[in-house]
Amino acid sequence: AWAAAVGQRRVLLAEPRAFCAGVERAIEVVERALEIHGAPVYVRKQIVHNTHVVNDLAGRGAVFVDELDEVPPGATVVFSAHGVAQAVREDAAHRHLSVIDATCPLVEKVHAEARRFTARGDTVLLIGHAGHEEVDGTLGEAPGRITLVESADEVASLEVDDPERVTYLMQTTLAVDEAEEVVDALRGRFPTIVGPGSADICYATSNRQNAVRRVAAEADLVLVLGSENSANSRRLVEVSKRDGAASHLVESVDEVRLEWLVGADTIGVSAGASAPPNLVEALTDALAGLGATSISTRSIGTESIAFTLPKEVRRPTGG
Ligand code: SF4
Repeated sequence: AWAAAVGQRRVLLAEPRAFCAGVERAIEVVERALEIHGAPVYVRKQIVHNTHVVNDLAGRGAVFVDELDEVPPGATVVFSAHGVAQAVREDAAHRHLSVIDATCPLVEKVHAEARRFTARGDTVLLIGHAGHEEVDGTLGEAPGRITLVESADEVASLEVDDPERVTYLMQTTLAVDEAEEVVDALRGRFPTIVGPGSADICYATSNRQNAVRRVAAEADLVLVLGSENSANSRRLVEVSKRDGAASHLVESVDEVRLEWLVGADTIGVSAGASAPPNLVEALTDALAGLGATSISTRSIGTESIAFTLPKEVRRPTGG
């Protein structure tokens, strides 16, 4: 079917794209835990929100569970990159589980802010999306004392103890432009509100959004590799659409539909922070297989961030 779409095409790769430092670290934590402890190693929730990554690790002996009651007492359990609520840590201790925490350090930074601001008595408003694991974890730093705000529309009806003592925080994977709208609404209602600006949105999220906007400006069609439940991948599709390019989230090249390619002379490609880079290669190979195709990169800069592993799985360094 693909042969029918033959034509001269330009493919523009957004850079940066695909795995971020927090995702690479979380995957390495599970790999190292398997090396050290042998299979099975239990992982609470998907280690990162990507089907390929989860299936690959499951094939190598990782056992993904939803909750800790599925983990045998005394076993090793890895907490996912999205972080956990304090209650989950307490539950793990109670069950005598040996925990390796793969929470991204940039999520942990937001948790630390949540603890600090609630401890000094502020009402904390968390801008984020209900039901996401990261949001559950951050709310769980001070249950009942952090209120989730999902959109600017909700701001008018918020109830707070003291409007002079309000702080806001953010989920790390928000769309920068949408988050700013919510912050503007919050400032309108609580003029003395303080918060991180957009700094809680992590470098990987904002870089991938800036890069995809760069390709969306030139492209007829933008394809983003990532899983349905990946927040940052979905945001890439949304910002690209807002910039006027037809945009789709695909799990892999197999989900690309022929009709999307019809008349799309310039195709932008990106991948969410949880998506493996080899998926991008498979997609560009397939596009190149359609006929004359030029592939170039639109870069907003390169990333050099890397995080150290948790001590439980760190390799000994030096002599
Ligand atoms: Fe960490 Fe950002 Fe990657 Fe999430 S997207 S794992 S917060 S670096």
